[in-house]
Amino acid sequence: MIKVIINGYKGRMGQALVNCAPQHRGLQLVGKVDAGDDLAAVIGNADVVIDFSFHAATASVAALCAKNKKALVIGTTGHSDTDTFEIRRLAKEIPMVWASNFSTGVNTLFWLTRKAAEILGPDFDLEVIEMHHRLKKDAPSGTAKTLAEILADVRKLKLNEAARHGRNGIVGERTQSEIGVHSIRGGDVVGDHTVVFANIGERVELTHKASSRDTFANGALRAAQWVVTQKPGIYDMQDVLGLK
Ligand code: NAD
Repeated sequence: MIKVIINGYKGRMGQALVNCAPQHRGLQLVGKVDAGDDLAAVIGNADVVIDFSFHAATASVAALCAKNKKALVIGTTGHSDTDTFEIRRLAKEIPMVWASNFSTGVNTLFWLTRKAAEILGPDFDLEVIEMHHRLKKDAPSGTAKTLAEILADVRKLKLNEAARHGRNGIVGERTQSEIGVHSIRGGDVVGDHTVVFANIGERVELTHKASSRDTFANGALRAAQWVVTQKPGIYDMQDVLGLK
């Protein structure tokens, strides 16, 4: 039995994980932690920690996992460059699955986005649009960032130079070296992502819409079972699904 602790269990994703965990045979929920609780006091009981909490919390969770030689699944998004660097450093000591999105559908969208960008070539303008519920704290979504990173990688662009986060005012004509990224917030939308490939005379749009957080929770629980047998390093959901 693989023993798991959920960090951030009181949140929207935490509750989905708690509800979905019993359906995963071979996995046992041995701890639930949220802000103000002491993960250090219970981590010894676990094989793996699943973190869906707050961007500022993940690096210290990773440090505790590394100290105790426990695997880690990270679903939290919105990390700073400093946090990202620190988490990556700690992944030399323990196996981690770190994914901006744990749904099978979105990981298929990642794959299709790369293929479409390769096939359609540089004449197509690239834009990413995401919509989430009104309570989401970070923007753009981690998934939108991953989609934009895939597009930048295919086009051999640096995303921090190519990204246009919304447009306002006299921004001038669109150039071929930009990737638009647009965040919409409202209501209770679980997560919508569209990648637009637009040329003169035609347009391709790839869209994924999540209607339940269970899809992310079940993916993260599957990742938790997978990661405990891996060598130290950073893996993503495409590794877990065998899509690489
Ligand atoms: P939420 O605000 O509903 O829940 C976050 C929970 O974390 C809260 O209960 C909060 O009290 C807790 N928390 C805050 N600081 C903490 C700390 N220091 N230690 C422990 N717990 C702490 O948010 P949510 O909608 O559940 O999303 C959580 C994170 O997961 C966000 O970063 C979100 O973007 C991300 N997310 C990722 C995926 C994915 O597939 N990777 C899917 C959905 C959401």
